[in-house]
Amino acid sequence: MAYQSPISPGHSWYEDSIGERPVYAALDGDKTADVVIVGGGYTGLSAAAHLARMGTDVVLIDAHRFGDGASGRNGGQLGTGQRAWAEELEADYGLARARALFDLAEEAKTHLLEFVGSNGIDIDYIPGQLSVAHKRRYVDDYKAHAEIMAERFNYSHVAFMDAAETAERLGSNRYFGGTRDTGTGHIHPLKLVIGTARVAAQAGAQLFENTPSTGIISAGGKVRVTTPKGTVKADKCLIAVNAYGGDLEPVSAAHIMPIGSFIGATVPLGSESTVLPGGEAVDDSRFVVRYFRKSKDGRLLFGGREIYGVNDPRDIHIHIRRQIGELYPALKDIEITHGWGGYVGITLPRKPFVREVMPNVISAGGYSGHGVMLSNFVGKLYAETVSGNRDRLKLIEDLKIPAFPGGRRLRAPLLFLALNWYALRDRI
Ligand SMILES: Cc1cc2nc3c(=O)[nH]c(=O)nc-3n(C[C@H](O)[C@H](O)[C@H](O)COP(=O)(O)OP(=O)(O)OC[C@H]3O[C@@H](n4cnc5c(N)ncnc54)[C@H](O)[C@@H]3O)c2cc1C
Repeated sequence: MAYQSPISPGHSWYEDSIGERPVYAALDGDKTADVVIVGGGYTGLSAAAHLARMGTDVVLIDAHRFGDGASGRNGGQLGTGQRAWAEELEADYGLARARALFDLAEEAKTHLLEFVGSNGIDIDYIPGQLSVAHKRRYVDDYKAHAEIMAERFNYSHVAFMDAAETAERLGSNRYFGGTRDTGTGHIHPLKLVIGTARVAAQAGAQLFENTPSTGIISAGGKVRVTTPKGTVKADKCLIAVNAYGGDLEPVSAAHIMPIGSFIGATVPLGSESTVLPGGEAVDDSRFVVRYFRKSKDGRLLFGGREIYGVNDPRDIHIHIRRQIGELYPALKDIEITHGWGGYVGITLPRKPFVREVMPNVISAGGYSGHGVMLSNFVGKLYAETVSGNRDRLKLIEDLKIPAFPGGRRLRAPLLFLALNWYALRDRI
């Protein structure tokens, strides 16, 4: 029987495409360490791998299995820069700081590809990213974006596409133009989780699955993480639970909101298919963004549905097939073999959240749908911080993310209303 994540809806194609997943034992007994990490997605596993390689004694626990949250189930698109376009960062923070944030994200991309390359982790990397306008009035923004990237951010891999080129590269004429980025690509997310865990374990990190933290206390210069069958005492703690933390730690919960996002996988389209002949990943200009790509074996992996505050994945197949049919009428009856989802951790300004929430306890998450490369890099930056250099993590800490309004009880309904308004705007 194929494994099903107990915390994320639906059975993913990624799960079926990897064979047996390595199993890590649950914690049974007490431990002491230099660093304890709570959460075994990219953020936590990457931090564990880098810390262990530095010779730090590290214990990582996850409530379920590594990758059961967002990291093993996402759209696999690396993207470029931060979630916000570089020119938006410039408008918010000025050119120098926007460049620093953009360069940091570029380093995140390089780091990820070097990390997998040097550790023999095969992540099915396929190059190319198309970003496309679903309304004609957005096309000029994409044109300006390509120019700004080259002129002000020294990034020359983005080129503008007119409507004809867009149609040819997509195999669909439903978009009006966009950009093509040859400096990034897409990956198999669960393979990255499994490979990073292996590197961490081989470097000496102690990794435990099925071990929920039931509490985190910082007192007298030590941190104590409790679990059902043991306690971990450490000098420092990284909270890396992102959208899945529930009430574990209130400051993180007030700043990071879970939003359901859903993906459908079709049967392989076959070599004759005209869909995405160049193999690029795609994201569009909708606020409720549609993101899709072909897997290495030629399936269309199509993400396009977000649910704000509602958890009902039963109709993933129906919604995803309808959205595929809008773009590719020939595929309107295509068989969807898998439909699954997960929770994206978003922040109010859709920028990452990193904060010392208690003495010696740092929480990181809220990558707002742009976490594949960023979360892995934040793990590395946390390891740098433990070794005494906090400068680069500070760049993200200094974003000063505000809490969601409405308190814990009202924030979800308020956001539900706001986001549905934007979703409506996508259609007019
Ligand atoms: C459907 C979907 C599509 C996405 N597509 C993209 C994309 O194409 N590109 C992109 O850049 N980003 C994408 N994202 C976002 C990206 O996946 C995340 O930003 C990234 O995986 C976050 O990693 P993380 O380690 O911070 O969190 P997670 O991977 O969510 O890990 C958190 C972990 O914490 C554990 N945990 C929770 N509570 C406890 C506890 N009390 N004790 C112990 N452990 C606990 C959970 O079990 C979980 O394993 C997508 C996300 C989703 C859901």
